[in-house]
Amino acid sequence: MITPLVATRGDSLATARAQLDRAKLVLCDVDGCLVESDALCPGAAAFVAQHGERLRLVTNNSTMTAAAFSTYLDTLGLEVPAARCFLAGEVALAHVRDHHPNTTILIAASPAIRQRAEALGLHLAGSKPDVVVLCNDPTLDIERLQQIVTAAHSGAPVIVANPDRWRPDRGGAPLIETGTILAALRAAVTNANITIVGKPSREMFHRALEDVAPADAVMIGDNRETDIIGAETLGIAAIHIGRSREAIAAHLLDLMTW
Ligand SMILES: [Mg+2]
Repeated sequence: MITPLVATRGDSLATARAQLDRAKLVLCDVDGCLVESDALCPGAAAFVAQHGERLRLVTNNSTMTAAAFSTYLDTLGLEVPAARCFLAGEVALAHVRDHHPNTTILIAASPAIRQRAEALGLHLAGSKPDVVVLCNDPTLDIERLQQIVTAAHSGAPVIVANPDRWRPDRGGAPLIETGTILAALRAAVTNANITIVGKPSREMFHRALEDVAPADAVMIGDNRETDIIGAETLGIAAIHIGRSREAIAAHLLDLMTW
């Protein structure tokens, strides 16, 4: 009898550990990998300590700055400097700064991201902006949404931090994310000029890679659509962990080598 060659979870885990071992850069998602419901996931602290300077966090969070995010992680016991944290909201602002200099923006975002936009020299406009920026904005009202729709209809490019439509609260119920605001915009303006910078888009990974080649990096994530497909599209080896059936391990703890 011929036994078919089928890769087992054990094989995949061994491959993943070897990939991690030789990678120059380790990119890692945060929610569901390092942190869940404001608590550390199994192995998170040891993983951060083991990979240290090789580690970059890549998250579709669009409400916090990297500095605030680093401080938040510190309260949980994870030491990751802001310079090694790549957040979709800040990446959206960096995109506007780099591709639309000296521009006025209409932005849906948290107060922290608005402040960061001004600190980067972007001019916040109430009406007739050059560019629209969409981040998660828990206080977005219908008047601001109408301004966004009007601007997009007039041809202003729309830079979107992250495509996620929702994220779970502690009980698993959906909390509105940027993608739901984007869906409302798309419902009203079918031909809007939209650029999404968060995962799975290339830009997030490109910025996190800095000067490292994709082949020398590895990405760890729990979301197939954003983390895994996003990384693999760019040629970055991806390790799928978490609860889904496709995951090769439940936790970062399983990837540790001691
Ligand atoms: Mg995740």
